[in-house]
Amino acid sequence: MNPDATANELLDLLEQSREYAQYFAELGVETIALSSHRVASEASTASSPVEASPQRTPHINSVPAQSSMKMPAVSNSPLRSSLFAESPEPASLQSTESLEDVWREIGDCTRCGLCEGRTQVVNTFGNHKARLMFVGEAPGADEDAQGKPFVGRAGQLLTKIIEAIGMKREDVLIGNVNRCRPPGNRQPTLEEAAICRPFLFREIAAVQPEVIVVMGNTALQNLLDVREGISRVRGKFRDFRGIKVMPTFHPAYLLRDPSKKREVWEDLKKVRDYLDNLPPRVQ
Ligand code: URA
Repeated sequence: MNPDATANELLDLLEQSREYAQYFAELGVETIALSSHRVASEASTASSPVEASPQRTPHINSVPAQSSMKMPAVSNSPLRSSLFAESPEPASLQSTESLEDVWREIGDCTRCGLCEGRTQVVNTFGNHKARLMFVGEAPGADEDAQGKPFVGRAGQLLTKIIEAIGMKREDVLIGNVNRCRPPGNRQPTLEEAAICRPFLFREIAAVQPEVIVVMGNTALQNLLDVREGISRVRGKFRDFRGIKVMPTFHPAYLLRDPSKKREVWEDLKKVRDYLDNLPPRVQ
């Protein structure tokens, strides 16, 4: 196997381990004990899920101190369970609101702690009659500075992806689960996401796009009731309140692993074909 292929496989394993760790953490698991394939002293040196041997089976919530992996911290808030609840927010897509109505209500938002580190709120941006919407995680430094989603390096790649399916950036709508830049570009907590996403849902209801592309785990898990990570569910249409949803990789992930562009291209071709076969929209 050549070194590039090995590196990519390792990155893949790393990503999958991260998804599992995140998934278990979201379920409230605090430690994963390692089975007896290796002696406890050896196992206790594994400081991250990636260092754990693949043969070892995790035993959830059996907690011998030296042979367990600590899960990432998550809030104990009841909001945690809402991520996987049947229908966390009202299921209706009826709306008489415009995007401006939603933005007016968001205002200079201080509903969660992310307001403390941000420069400005970054609302959804683009075509108010878009048939296609893209949803990411949260603004980064460039977005925080310019007040628009996906304008940095990941955003430039997103523009290329949009153009690859024969559309322009101005044709589509682009938004995020969270509208304020998390410190150090960390992933928003479940609580922060739960506070912000109702506004995204209201924007979706106002525009009623025909397809939403969710990019990466945060967008995936905040729009859809799925527990698996993006690498498992990408490429197949799902449903969000009657709207087709295509999960795919986040462009920032593609910047780290360009070999994954092929999968994104496959996913986006399905989106293009679906849209091409729809009757023209009655405005
Ligand atoms: N990453 C995101 O998820 N959203 C942005 O707006 C920019 C980078």
